[in-house]
Amino acid sequence: MRLMARCEVCGNDYGMAFYVETQDGARHVFDSFSCAIHRMAPVCEHCRCRIIGQGVEAAGHFYCGAHCARAEGRAGIVDHV
Ligand SMILES: [Zn+2]
Ligand SMILES: [Zn+2]
Repeated sequence: MRLMARCEVCGNDYGMAFYVETQDGARHVFDSFSCAIHRMAPVCEHCRCRIIGQGVEAAGHFYCGAHCARAEGRAGIVDHV
């Protein structure tokens, strides 16, 4: 029996799809890592790039790094290393 799963980003029906569970318990289906990134990765509120990896969160806002957080006036933020 083949497990059917459809990527929720591109709609691709692919047998090797995988699941990603988020912190709130929601489950997402993707056929590839690039689709997962497209769906899951937050966007830096300053430079609009996709945040892959740690990123910085300040008062509910997401940035790709401390330099972008500071550029938006969020003082006292240090990069997670
Ligand atoms: Zn996909
Ligand atoms: Zn940025």
